[in-house]
Amino acid sequence: MYKKMIPAILLLLFLFFIGNLYEKPKETTPPSTSKKENIEEMDTKIEIDSTRERIPIQYVPVYEHQVHAYCDQCKADITGNVQAHLYYSKANGGNCTSVHYEEIDIYVGDEPIYLD
Ligand SMILES: [Zn+2]
Repeated sequence: MYKKMIPAILLLLFLFFIGNLYEKPKETTPPSTSKKENIEEMDTKIEIDSTRERIPIQYVPVYEHQVHAYCDQCKADITGNVQAHLYYSKANGGNCTSVHYEEIDIYVGDEPIYLD
């Protein structure tokens, strides 16, 4: 009686393996998309990592708008020293008598620009 059942058992085992062979490719497709999601998660983690050192991608020069006073005769920058300059010039035989003002942009440093 067992000898008659052996071909049937072999047939069932054969069908079982064939079934597994055709089902496996369907199971391997979802992991490929989950790998992409893992990579995206890693990129996001790198961007929001607050412990890393922030490195500027470039520096932009910063200028400060100022009004400067210049002597008309000797062309010296006498900002904040106008009255003293004219007084000492006159006292020492100089010819500095008038002043004009110019609006200028003074370079005060570089501002770092960050990516985020
Ligand atoms: Zn002068």
